[in-house]
Amino acid sequence: MRVLLVEDDRMIGEVVAQSLKEASYAVDWVRDGQTALNTLATQVYDVVLLDLGLPKRDGLEVLRGLRGKNNPVPVLVITARDTLDDRIRGLDSGADDYVLKPFEMTELLARMRAVIRRKGGVAGPVLSNGVITLDPATREVNRNGDTITLSGREFSLLMALMARPGAILSRSDLEERIYGWNEEVDSNAVEFLIHTLRKKLGAKAIQNVRGMGWMVSK
Ligand code: CA
Repeated sequence: MRVLLVEDDRMIGEVVAQSLKEASYAVDWVRDGQTALNTLATQVYDVVLLDLGLPKRDGLEVLRGLRGKNNPVPVLVITARDTLDDRIRGLDSGADDYVLKPFEMTELLARMRAVIRRKGGVAGPVLSNGVITLDPATREVNRNGDTITLSGREFSLLMALMARPGAILSRSDLEERIYGWNEEVDSNAVEFLIHTLRKKLGAKAIQNVRGMGWMVSK
């Protein structure tokens, strides 16, 4: 799951970005509205966390710009402006939900999962292909009923595959879902994670499609 965090407040941004990484999201963080619009024009995200008070272009302009281009990405507005008026303006501009500052990370994460789910993403409730079951909310993974313990990156990679059983994801598809921009990615990082996942889940749990990528069976 890849998140664009749009937040100019350094302290809030650092806390949120860190918490999201710990929850196995890949996070890209931008600090003004214009950069957010530029980024959203070229990159695909599972959800956008959008502050309203931003330099260059404010959050509502970002939202209108996005929706004006029919970009359907789920947007969760994070705002200190807790007036009814702003809420209505935000919803008219295409926000999916709100979190008011100050907020608890658990609430933010729960609302993120909810907006992703409502938009037909994969943040829950539970992903399963009959053999492996993955719960994005509790981060529990089971194989034929046995609980499997995964690292954060292993979990992210498996979640990307389990989101669409039967679909082939390439190395770059997987890297995009596991790593944020500023993270260094080893050229064989994906292969290594596949290797450790197969050790834990069984060799047949993840299939290699030669020259194309990997998939889990339907
Ligand atoms: Ca702000």
